[in-house]
Amino acid sequence: MLLIVFFLASIWGSFLNVCIYRIPRNDLSVFFPYRSFCPNCKKVISFYDNIPLFSYLLLGGKCRYCRQAISAQYFLVELGTALSLVFLFTYYQPLLELSQITTLLRVIILLSLLIPVSLIDFEKYIVPNDLIIVGLIVGFFVNFADSIIKGNFLVLGQHVLCGLSAGLGLQSIAIAGKLTLGRTAMGFGDVKLAVVLGLFLGQWQSLILVLMIASISGAIIGTIALIWRRGNDRNRIPFAPFLSFSAMIDLVWHEQIWSTYIGLISWTV
Ligand SMILES: [Zn+2]
Repeated sequence: MLLIVFFLASIWGSFLNVCIYRIPRNDLSVFFPYRSFCPNCKKVISFYDNIPLFSYLLLGGKCRYCRQAISAQYFLVELGTALSLVFLFTYYQPLLELSQITTLLRVIILLSLLIPVSLIDFEKYIVPNDLIIVGLIVGFFVNFADSIIKGNFLVLGQHVLCGLSAGLGLQSIAIAGKLTLGRTAMGFGDVKLAVVLGLFLGQWQSLILVLMIASISGAIIGTIALIWRRGNDRNRIPFAPFLSFSAMIDLVWHEQIWSTYIGLISWTV
């Protein structure tokens, strides 16, 4: 069973790779051209060279025709997606009950959205609108389905409200940051992403945790990057990967982290 999940998830990861490469490039759409091609020699990749994970290893990470090195990112995204989904399936044990399946679905959809969002922001410093729109629509329907299953439409309302407050909250932080620092510290892309995250997470406690984890991890990694990277890009640190990472952590381990956090607060006070 897990082997099947691993295999299907690596194919899914392969599709996410296509999104990561094509979405920021205006002359390409996700579904056209239908077949993948080598970014260097433009040759169409045959199906036997396009098997997730195996083909990369068999070809030694190089194009069969022009021997140009293929970015290890393709392999890592496929492997990362496959391992994450195997982990999530064992963690939620989806065959147990219906409510677990919607939770699992929510996590898988958000993960599939945040992998391309993070990597595109990391490479190009943009959060693509296409992905935000997909996130808003799919997020709405996941909550709609969840409301029907639970027989309670307050679920949908709460998630929509949470998305809106997340966007407003981050926008206020962005404005405050601009006023105090005198430069744009956080882009509008991060604000739009926050709306999607709020829609999926659906509780104010999650928003606090996500903002905290994202700021702390962003500050640590940002400082390291500042020392390590001395080019023109040194002032620009994409925030979407940190928001995404924190949201995934919160979605899976919210209860544990929140109770630890409350414990820490009551201990210090
Ligand atoms: Zn090639």
